[in-house]
Amino acid sequence: MDNAASMTPSTPFDVVQIPVWTDNYAYLLCPRDGTAAVVDSPEAEPILEVLSQGGLQLTHIFNTHHHFDHIGANQELIAAFPDVVVCGGRYDAEHQRIPGQTRILEDGETFEWGGDRCTVREVPAHTLGHIAYCWDSNRAFVGDTLFFGGCGRLFEGTAAMMDRALYEVLGRLDNSTLLYCAHEYTEANLRFARTVDPHNAELLALSEEVASLRARGKPTVPSRLEQEWAINPFLRCDSPTIRQALNCDTSSPRHEVLGALRTLKDGFRG
Ligand SMILES: [Zn+2]
Repeated sequence: MDNAASMTPSTPFDVVQIPVWTDNYAYLLCPRDGTAAVVDSPEAEPILEVLSQGGLQLTHIFNTHHHFDHIGANQELIAAFPDVVVCGGRYDAEHQRIPGQTRILEDGETFEWGGDRCTVREVPAHTLGHIAYCWDSNRAFVGDTLFFGGCGRLFEGTAAMMDRALYEVLGRLDNSTLLYCAHEYTEANLRFARTVDPHNAELLALSEEVASLRARGKPTVPSRLEQEWAINPFLRCDSPTIRQALNCDTSSPRHEVLGALRTLKDGFRG
């Protein structure tokens, strides 16, 4: 399992994973030139501390969506770095729900930062304004859309929208892509996954690995896309085992299976 510490010098920027509160992650992107950007901003203090330790100038905030645990520190970061560019999607800009947003990123837009190129993808489902930051270095910051072994709750969008986000957008990334999600939910996600996919050997082996990492207080994130295809039930909605577990027959459209899975997970207290 890879994690942030394994970044090699050949990557355009390093990723520093900052745990916040019980299960949030903020990510500091550091191109080793004294600048940095942060993906999501739950709380200012731990982010400012890492910036200060490295003597880093924050140039960008890359917000994925408007939930408080992703934008809560925007104003404090802007106060500390008045020239910081605050990026988010169009829907959230139009609804003015990302504090201090100065730049609207469009679906499919590319921009250069930190020696790398990012393609912005709209992935409305968890919220209607959710975007993902997909870098040419095969690293994607996916917020609350795809979690290791799971997906985000459908607060504003539909199962069909999540189906599109997972299979038509994030699922089309290179299989080696590292997926940086915004929460450490892996252990609970895999516990649920085992209830609908109980004979999946890779899932069972991963569950042991994850339990061992968590017992030592280590992060399980990021994951790789190819691993998600093997173990994440929300990316395995065509699996006969999973369909059977949900009482969905083989002719059910995939998004219906995904919706049934999401509803079951919402009520899961395992
Ligand atoms: Zn959220």
